Amino acid sequence: MKAISSRRPFGYLLRLARSGRVPADDHMHVVDALDKEGPYDPPFWMPPYRGRVGPPALPGTDGHFDHIPVDDRTFLSAHTYAAARRVLDVWEALFGRPITWWHTATYPSLELLPLIHWDNAQSGSGFVELGARQNNVGELHRFCLNFEVIAHEVGHAIAFSEVGVPDPDHLNGEYLAFQESFSDLIALISVGFFESVLTKLLERTHGNLYVLNLLNRIGEMSETQQIRLADNETRLRDLEGLRLDSGGVWTDETGAGRNAHDLAQPLTGAIFDILVEIFQDRLAQRGLIPAGADARGWTREEAQTALEWFERRWGAVFFRFEPEFRAAIVEARNVVGGAIAWVMNRLDPNDLTFARIATLFLEASLALGQGGQIAAFREIFLERDIVPELRAPQSRIRVPGRMARVAPPRSPCFADRIAAGQRARQLAKMRQAELRAGERRAFRVDRLLRRAHRGAGKLR
Ligand SMILES: [Zn+2]
Repeated sequence: MKAISSRRPFGYLLRLARSGRVPADDHMHVVDALDKEGPYDPPFWMPPYRGRVGPPALPGTDGHFDHIPVDDRTFLSAHTYAAARRVLDVWEALFGRPITWWHTATYPSLELLPLIHWDNAQSGSGFVELGARQNNVGELHRFCLNFEVIAHEVGHAIAFSEVGVPDPDHLNGEYLAFQESFSDLIALISVGFFESVLTKLLERTHGNLYVLNLLNRIGEMSETQQIRLADNETRLRDLEGLRLDSGGVWTDETGAGRNAHDLAQPLTGAIFDILVEIFQDRLAQRGLIPAGADARGWTREEAQTALEWFERRWGAVFFRFEPEFRAAIVEARNVVGGAIAWVMNRLDPNDLTFARIATLFLEASLALGQGGQIAAFREIFLERDIVPELRAPQSRIRVPGRMARVAPPRSPCFADRIAAGQRARQLAKMRQAELRAGERRAFRVDRLLRRAHRGAGKLR
């Protein structure tokens, strides 16, 4: 992790350092706010934070921060900075150019607040702030130590900066859902850039990505609790009755209180399925898995059965083939990451639709050498009820760094994401119950038919 970049005037960075606002670089700086009660609430309360700040995290003589003990307060600052900076580095590489914050005219540098008194996390104009909450085993979970939570919030900042914000008359629910979905995907792809994560992922799953694993558990809070799963089963038809009214308020006819985080799920799920498709296609091409092993639509039980197959087939020799599995996941990560950047580069925020995103995603896949897979990718979107446009309108190439026209709608991400995750799991359970009920009905009818047959021809 680099300590201080020289791209901004030295005097500016020196002022930040003197005021304890470090680590810092040309895009972001950390403020360890000691007494910040609650979240910013623009336009009433906005950065910069003017209260007491904790001791700064300082680099060693080599410019690195890895000498700081993990139980030291300044570790929180160092970790927050490292995670946020890593995400930006990954996405600047995927875009192939620097990213300019949408709020750069007012706030050229993103203020990162590692720990405020709030049980949530959010990003907004010029800031990312993180609180803490107890997880399901009673441990206090500080979000600044959770890479995915930070990556999701920085993801919002990237999506706002690259796609912009719709004009008020052209804001719709799909735009807000796109924000949540792409922030999750930005987090997921960013995690995939850690070699250590890929090693652990392959060790644990032996190549079956549908088994609960590090990559699809976005926002892991404990061994068993996470905010939501990327490999959800939600389709758009499951979200009927959910709409955003002209005042920007969600109404849910079902009374379940759903919102953008719920509407995001089919899009996130489809793109995760495409990632797995690319991964498995490459493995099939190398003869490492049977060509027909189409894992899409597998239930968790089927995935478990498949894992057992993997274990029997590869368990003893898996590590001999590990480089092939690793290359496959790296390719899938790079294609999906590149496609996400491509989509954001061309997406118009006004009257945004999932159909448009899917169309751009397919265009990107073609450009990234996935021509042979387009039909399969299209099918994946269709399974989520997302229908790519037949003929794509002329792509709008965005000028980097375009300023947003209005302030983006904000929502405290964390609580909403947990609730949406719970609803998705409930929905999946309901669907399973429905399927089982359907099976039972079919079974009853089948039994009746067979009974009728048994009765037929019987001599009375
Ligand atoms: Zn969010």
